[in-house]
Amino acid sequence: MRVITTIAELRTARAALQGTTGLVPTMGYLHEGHLSLVRRARAENDHVITTIFVNPTQFGPSEDLTRYPRDLPRDLALLEAEKVDLVFAPDVSEMYPPGFGTFIDVGPIAAPLEGAARPGHFCGVATVVCKLFAITSPHRAYFGQKDAQQTLVIRRMTLDLNLPVEIVVCPIVREPDGLAMSSRNVYLNPEERRAATVLFRALRAVQERFAAGERNGDALRAAMRAVIDAEPLARADYVSVADLDDLHELETVTGRALASLAVRIGTTRLIDNCVLEG
Ligand code: AMP
Repeated sequence: MRVITTIAELRTARAALQGTTGLVPTMGYLHEGHLSLVRRARAENDHVITTIFVNPTQFGPSEDLTRYPRDLPRDLALLEAEKVDLVFAPDVSEMYPPGFGTFIDVGPIAAPLEGAARPGHFCGVATVVCKLFAITSPHRAYFGQKDAQQTLVIRRMTLDLNLPVEIVVCPIVREPDGLAMSSRNVYLNPEERRAATVLFRALRAVQERFAAGERNGDALRAAMRAVIDAEPLARADYVSVADLDDLHELETVTGRALASLAVRIGTTRLIDNCVLEG
């Protein structure tokens, strides 16, 4: 496994790889969710490139960029064990040199939910992912359903800009108690960690209501909100039952729908989602 920090070196190393290449973009501080993407990429491609880059352009001014958890030596050991070929871990100045000025606006799909709560977030995501595609020229790129709207944003951008990359979306990996794995879970103190299961509990509640035949969007959203409101350490940022393709809030669910939520536990903001179907 080679660890590379410059774009020039990465291009040279990439050019030497024969066959198919899978890309797994991450911000590091890896957990089993990330590793599930790496394993899928490993299984489906001749080579795997993982990127570790805490991308400043996707963080708002009052967000957790400076305290975002990092542990490069540990990440590299985990990736080595997964037989990753190349790790690209550039500095911010390598990705955004002085004079950098081009940003990607993917349009309406980036507007609601996370886009509304985090202005500019998806512009930063789309821009850095497009750059990583341009730098690494992957055949396939792997993303987690954990960040459901992000997968739609990336698919939209890839389609709109004719990027020759197949987007693969992988299932959410959870802790035994249902909490979706996230690098940000490390922020939680023991009491908050217990409260954080509220996201999964809310998703279970909406799934139960849906299974019982409820199709009214407001009633389904209320089922999630009631669970969050009952948890003293939790504050809902949003709850949503939305169209799987364009993310508009549904009055009535006719086919499938995306149930998603963002919740603050203390100062930590967590997201989760599930697909309502059947
Ligand atoms: P991040 O490092 O948080 O930017 O995540 C990098 C990639 O890993 C993204 O495509 C995420 O959606 C994915 N990911 C993060 N957490 C999980 C999880 N619990 N299960 C599956 N994929 C995940």
